[in-house]
Order: sequence, then C-alpha cells, then structure tokens
Amino acid sequence: MRFREPLLGGSAAMPGASLQRACRLLVFVCALHLGVTLVYYLAGRDLSRLPQLVGVPTPLQGGSNGAAAIEQPSGELRPRGAPPPPPLDASSELRSGRDSSPDTHSHPGSGSASNLTSAPVPSTTALSLLACPEESPLLVGPMVIEFNMPVDLKLVEKQNPEVKVGGRYTPKNCISPHKVAIIIPFRNRQEHLKYWLYYLHPILQRQQLDYGIYVVNQAGETMFNRAKLLNIGFQEALKDYDYNCFVFSDVDLIPMNDHNAYRCFSQPRHISVAMDKFGFSLPYVQYFGGVSALSKQQFLTINGFPNNYWGWGGEDDDIFNRLVFKGMSVSRPNAVVGKCRMIRHSRDKKNEPNPQRFDRIAHTKETMLSDGLNTLTYKVLDIERNPLYTKITVDIGTPS
Ligand code: BGC
Repeated sequence: MRFREPLLGGSAAMPGASLQRACRLLVFVCALHLGVTLVYYLAGRDLSRLPQLVGVPTPLQGGSNGAAAIEQPSGELRPRGAPPPPPLDASSELRSGRDSSPDTHSHPGSGSASNLTSAPVPSTTALSLLACPEESPLLVGPMVIEFNMPVDLKLVEKQNPEVKVGGRYTPKNCISPHKVAIIIPFRNRQEHLKYWLYYLHPILQRQQLDYGIYVVNQAGETMFNRAKLLNIGFQEALKDYDYNCFVFSDVDLIPMNDHNAYRCFSQPRHISVAMDKFGFSLPYVQYFGGVSALSKQQFLTINGFPNNYWGWGGEDDDIFNRLVFKGMSVSRPNAVVGKCRMIRHSRDKKNEPNPQRFDRIAHTKETMLSDGLNTLTYKVLDIERNPLYTKITVDIGTPS
C-alpha cells in the first residue's frame, strides 16, 4: 500500500491520508449543509423584499410628499346652537373610573354577540414587514367620479382580490398603523352601497389602511336614526378586531381625491369638507356631517354619539358640540383634496327633518353625559359577512 507524501515532514505532518480524507469529507458535508440551509431560508422569504431587508429603498418606500400640506386649521370652533362660546374642558375622560371598553356597556343584543364569527384577519408575515410610510406612494390624486353606470358587485369582487370576506383588507407589503373600521348607517340604499364599494375599496387599499367595512342596517319602518346606528357600528366592529380608528360615512358620499385620508388624526377629522351639493365648500364652519373620523379614544371621550336624534338633521351638530365641549378641535383637508360627490336622491321615507333638533343641539353640554355609548341599547338581528362588506341588521327601538 502506498501512502501519499505528507506536505510537511516530521511531527508537523498530517497523521494519515485516511484522516485527511475524513476531514475533507467533513468540511464538504458542512458546506453542503450550510448551502442547503441558505437556499431553504431564502425560499421561505418574500424575495421581493430583499432590498428592504438590506436597507435599499424601493419605490414603495417613497418619502412623504404633501401629507402635511393638506392639513389646515378649521378656524374658530364654537358649538352649534349654543350661542356663547363654552369654556373648553380639557378633561379627556367623560367620567372618572369609567371603563374605556365599549364591551362593558350592556345592551339587549349583547347575548347575540356569540353569533359573531370573527371576520378573518388576513395573515401577514409580521416579522419581516416594515411600517407603511406616512403617506402612501400608491395614491393617484384627483379621480373622476360618476354615477351613470350599473355596478356589478361580482365584478367589484374580482377587481379587488385582496379584499377578504366581510370587507377586510390588510396591506401585504407593510404594516399599517391605521386599523380603521368604516361604519355606514344604512336602510334601503343598495344601489348607493354598490357605488360606494366600487369606488372606495380601491381607494382605501391605495391608502394602505388595515380596514373593515361595516354597514349597519336599521330594521323595520320606524324613523331613521343615523347617530345611533353609528354608535352600534363602533361597538360591533370592536368585537371583530382591535380597530383604533372609526370612519363614519354616509352611503352616498364618494371622495374625488385619494389624498383625502380615511383615517384618524390627533384631532377628530372631518373628511367630506367640499361636497358638490354645497358648491364644493363647507355650508358652515361647524359642519361635521357626511364623512368624519374619530379615533377610539376620541370617540370614548365624548361618550360616543347621541342616540335620541330621530329623523333628519342635527345629530352631526351635536357631535361637533361634544368635541368642542371636550376641548378638541377639528382637523380637515383643504377644499381641493376634500372635494367629494354625493349621489343625488329624493328624501327617504321615515327620515323627515327632525323638528326637535334645534332644541337638542342647544343642550348638548348637559345631554352628552346621559345620552351616548353609556345608554346605548339595541338588538342585533343578523350579521351577514358578504365578500365586500359586513352587514349588521339591528333593531334600534323607537323614539322614547
Ligand atoms: C343640519 C345638519 C345637516 C346640515 C347640512 C343642518 O341644518 O342640522 O344635520 O348636516 O344642515 O345639511
């Protein structure tokens, strides 16, 4: 048997050829193992995110370009219907010791909460995702909004494949801090809802919001009560997900510019500030109707919305008064970004102007403590998880 000449002679020489071979084999096996592990690791990741993982900016991480520019102060805030300006109460709690969880408020329908199967929350590979940028790079700006074509919801579903059952969406490529429940008070306006879903789903996705759509449908034929339906939407949506922001939108209002953010700000947000029906401006400075957004904390601070405005008008003025009495101001986009269209329609039956509204808004300061989330009662009759929205049908009782 012939042994290979050792490279080093004497005591420094390798002990033997078979040992050398064994060592080489070991090194080879280790290298192979490392290689295979690396391949599996990379295959399990979203490789499109590789540049972000190594700190190279991608087009989706573009900087903010104009978010601050759309902000502007709303001017003097004076409660509507209350002539002298009220002393501003900076307290942020409605009552001391009050549990901030809306689930602690009892209502006859609370038993039916067990009917609620949680809306599926799209899964994300949270560990590898970065926070979404302050302003989404996907926005397109002004949009043409028309209501002259029929909308096929099956088609809208196909056009929005990332929207999950119940109308839930979470951005795939980043983590949104804006967990927004959009609440729409509703009765017999399916055609308007179709336009709303057709236009809003793409806009909300471009805004990179983590959102869910809740249509709160008033059962029966009694007088419509918009603010109470909004309170219910707030309470029911929180049973699904830990939303931190609530956008309250009429079903017939569509924004004309996707820079108009459907999310919350440090102050309550009025979104529909330049409606076509008011000549693309505010009808009056305290106007807070149409579409608005309150964070969970802002909403709890004002004890939610009033429950006792039956019929058309006044409830949005009462909400505005609540905000001012709690020391808040209103944040608004400018009148260009804030342009929106309303679907023209005749007045709904059982939503005639409420003759008591003027008297009610003159007394918000006293009534807001005893009329709101803390006195909300209703019964959930049905919850439909549709592909593009969740519809909650409720019995809200009759005017007392
Ligand atoms: C009513 C509001 C309404 C506004 C604009 C006011 O007189 O009280 O509820 O939003 O008019 O139509």
